[in-house]
Amino acid sequence: MTSRPGERERARDLLASAGRVLILTGAGISAESGVPTFRGASGLWRNFRPEELATPEAFVRDARLVWEWYGMRREAISRCEPNVAHLAIAEWQLRDTNVGLATQNVDGLHADAARTARRPHAASDADGSEPHGRLLELHGAIFRSMCASCGIRSDHREPIDASSLATLPRCSSCAGLLRPDVVWFGESLDPIILERAFRWAEEADVCLVVGTSAVVQPAASLATVTRDTGGAIIEVNPERTPLTSVATVSIRDTATSMVPAIVPTLPPSGRPPGSASKI
Ligand code: NAD
Ligand code: ZN
Repeated sequence: MTSRPGERERARDLLASAGRVLILTGAGISAESGVPTFRGASGLWRNFRPEELATPEAFVRDARLVWEWYGMRREAISRCEPNVAHLAIAEWQLRDTNVGLATQNVDGLHADAARTARRPHAASDADGSEPHGRLLELHGAIFRSMCASCGIRSDHREPIDASSLATLPRCSSCAGLLRPDVVWFGESLDPIILERAFRWAEEADVCLVVGTSAVVQPAASLATVTRDTGGAIIEVNPERTPLTSVATVSIRDTATSMVPAIVPTLPPSGRPPGSASKI
């Protein structure tokens, strides 16, 4: 890993002086919690590529196979915990309302970290699922399901029995087949979530990009929107990505060693909560 000397300090200074920040995360931030990335060595499952299983066509063709894969992923993720990078971000969001987070991950570890960070303030943790209101799960959540017939969404943590079509989870209101509430390849992102994410990107002074290969659109373009509207991009990734050449600072390191080292640890000073400096 080769990052230029002083880049950590530059990143820290940029973040400390930013009025508004958007953090964009991908599978790499959860890799050190034990959640495999798609493009890593363990990305393949029984010779299927995720692009062949995480599609509406695959679900129509063989819902049992798709649920078997998701059941296996859910089981693996349920054994994982947020790491120090998730926690540093969650605590930063608690201290500073000008920090937004858009994640491509479906593992729920940012929401878990937010609940952990908020535990001392539990009395005000009213809705539980999205404690900050500034966590945008761009690609959905693997522990939520959506009815393929009536569209109702619900939290869904029970183990999946994918031994046959008859044992797959069903909707409690219309008995339709449930599907994971994640955005599959070829599907559109929720327009409300996407609109909020792009607004954050436009208003952000810095977009901090952690652990994404930056090839899945439109998520990757959030960072370039920040740059195109006069902000900076900070990238943390052990590998180069398409964003590396346009980033203001690009740090070749892992999320757990770098994120806690660069996020501001003091509360924002000199500006009222909720104010943005770049509009
Ligand atoms: P990706 O798998 O394409 O890329 C992961 C990136 O993380 C790579 O650039 C890699 O160099 C980097 N990385 C690996 N280890 C790292 C570490 N320790 N610290 C920092 N960076 C590290 O991931 P993506 O860009 O998020 O795109 C994958 C798509 O698949 C997303 O749409 C996502 O929804 C889905 N996905 C989600 C999960 C999850 O929820 N955890 C896991 C796999 C895939
Ligand atoms: Zn239904």
